[in-house]
Amino acid sequence: MDARITYYLDCVLVLAWSVLLLIVAYGFFDNIVNVSRRSQYKFDSGRTDFRLYCLNVSDVSASTPSGGGAKGGRSTALAGPSSRRSLVTPPADGDDDDLAQARRGSSADSRNGLGLVGLRNIGNTCFMNSVLQCLSNTKVLLDYIRNESYQKDVNNTTSSMKGALIKAFSELIKELWGSDTSGPVNTAALKAQIQRFAPRFMGYAQQDAQEFLRYLLEGLHEEVNRVTSKPKPITTDIDDNLSDAEKANEAWRRYLRAEDSFIVDMFVGQLKSTLKCTHCGHCSVTFDPFWDLSLPLPSGRHTTSVRLAHCLDAFTKEETLDGDEKPKCAKCKERRRCTKSFSIQKFPQVLVIHLKRFSPLERYRGKLNTLVEFPLEGLDLSQFAAEPQSGPSPRYNLYAVSEHSGTPYSGHYTAHCKNPLDNRWHEYNDSRVSSASGRSAVSPEAYVLFYEREGGTTQKSRL
Ligand SMILES: [Zn+2]
Repeated sequence: MDARITYYLDCVLVLAWSVLLLIVAYGFFDNIVNVSRRSQYKFDSGRTDFRLYCLNVSDVSASTPSGGGAKGGRSTALAGPSSRRSLVTPPADGDDDDLAQARRGSSADSRNGLGLVGLRNIGNTCFMNSVLQCLSNTKVLLDYIRNESYQKDVNNTTSSMKGALIKAFSELIKELWGSDTSGPVNTAALKAQIQRFAPRFMGYAQQDAQEFLRYLLEGLHEEVNRVTSKPKPITTDIDDNLSDAEKANEAWRRYLRAEDSFIVDMFVGQLKSTLKCTHCGHCSVTFDPFWDLSLPLPSGRHTTSVRLAHCLDAFTKEETLDGDEKPKCAKCKERRRCTKSFSIQKFPQVLVIHLKRFSPLERYRGKLNTLVEFPLEGLDLSQFAAEPQSGPSPRYNLYAVSEHSGTPYSGHYTAHCKNPLDNRWHEYNDSRVSSASGRSAVSPEAYVLFYEREGGTTQKSRL
């Protein structure tokens, strides 16, 4: 063969190999990038549950430098230099440490002992951090923990956790409020206890803050339940001849027989539901304890904002049960078309309001971003009372908001809380804490609202 032809063939072969090598190398590199991206974002496309994952704070900021994500823009404006910093910092492990370092040099020192300390995000735990900061700023609970009164209440018999959960919770609260705490606090010890108590919160999947709050409060209640031996359940119905107020009292008494704690004293209210037969007019009432009120949001296409009172109206208003839903009327002894309505029998000291932004039916369709206008002070619930109130009217002041930004599939939780010592508002965004205004808590991201009743802790468990 001609030497020149051989030479050209060799050239072509070398060229082909080079191209092939380049393709392989590129594929390999791309794969590595994907893998690392995956692990960073805890990407989990196989999960079919809703509200999946939260990006780390720095990821959110980094991926929305123009403030495209609602939270990206707002928190930057509020948080100032410390959050702007994350815009240029690629998401990396240990970023929290850097942040802590950066802050330690600034204003952090003057904040010691005021509970103005962030919580580390240890892998999709922003839902937990948000709720913990709201509870940390719940004055009655904070006092109960800090003055150690919970110690004498620890239930070592019927509580499944034998005090380990409330102990971990109180250690975290004390660290948040400690005078020698400087950096963000690690929640790993508490998280481990929560996972023992409620294994569904295991792993690193994003969870729903309201569900988590409910679990945590009920868990803490169990830990300090004054009922230390399980009472025999009462199976008889409440006497129908009693007045509504007497029925309510009896229902509450029965509830306290099994569930009676400082946490119940503070957080649990009683809801009255009235079923009225449209045929004979007979009313049957039932009374149930509630840990929070889940309010529906009007979801019309053009509804962009609504007042909280309207959500309460929608929650308490009469609805008609007809067709398959027809209940049996106790008087007619037949299934009848009935109306059903709710009212509040007992107002809790701490009122938790859950805005139903994620309807179970809308699970895969998204989230309602309606702005709910709620008052910071003087929320008067008199008109939703089951009966005229003998004491002062049930008026509430806002002190914390757990917020969700983003979509149901990839979102982030933060909180706005009013410090119970100096009454100033702050925004809590995982490891970051920055001053804020109370008004900025009213946003389309507000998800769970914490109100405290005016007039202190006068009524304990009684109706
Ligand atoms: Zn009837």
